Amino acid sequence: MTQLDLLWEYQTADTEADMLAHSIRQSPKRQKLLKIRDYIRDQQENLKTLESEIHAMTDRMDVLKEAISLADDQLKALQKRVQDEPPTTSEEIALYIAEAEQLSNTLNEYDQEVRQVRKSASDRDRRQLDIKMRAIKSKEEFDQLRVEYDDEYKEKSEILERLRAVAEEKKKDIEPEYLARYAAIKQHCTPPMAKLINEQCGGCNMGFPSSVLATIRAGKQVECETCGRLIIG
Ligand SMILES: [Zn+2]
Repeated sequence: MTQLDLLWEYQTADTEADMLAHSIRQSPKRQKLLKIRDYIRDQQENLKTLESEIHAMTDRMDVLKEAISLADDQLKALQKRVQDEPPTTSEEIALYIAEAEQLSNTLNEYDQEVRQVRKSASDRDRRQLDIKMRAIKSKEEFDQLRVEYDDEYKEKSEILERLRAVAEEKKKDIEPEYLARYAAIKQHCTPPMAKLINEQCGGCNMGFPSSVLATIRAGKQVECETCGRLIIG
């Protein structure tokens, strides 16, 4: 057996192992697990946002409560002033009324805002609860699937390990130079070797000039100029 023949046999075993590794990564159970994990992460982000919004609302409520109590005090002070120094002219009456109206408008605005903030806060409380419930469900689903996936993964990994060992064994009599070339081509092209089929590269179907064909048939190392694969005659 030539070095290229041995390398070809190694490629067969190597490709089989790679395909299984690929199918392990593409496992529907794994994909679903990743999806649930991403979903749980998104929900955690949403919860964080909600919590900070609720926090900001609590702060705003504190500010509003203080402002309301201040406006209340001002209104009481005004009432006292009206009692202590009853207005005597129509201008004074108008001034008192204007002041009272202004305070009462301010209080109304605060009151409306308090109601809005309360409503937003209770909306967010509901959403928070809803997200938490769904997160619990997702976590349960994740854990259950995880157990199933772990079994599947363990089983397939054992097979993969055997396939890798078979491939490793086939490397034994191959010169390092060939293995290095194989590995280098594999970086950009898989499988890295192709057979000569009808005087063409079996990887990309490009034809070879007769001089190159002669070199390939002589068993020398030739890489396809188009796809870069190592050609075996
Ligand atoms: Zn090619």
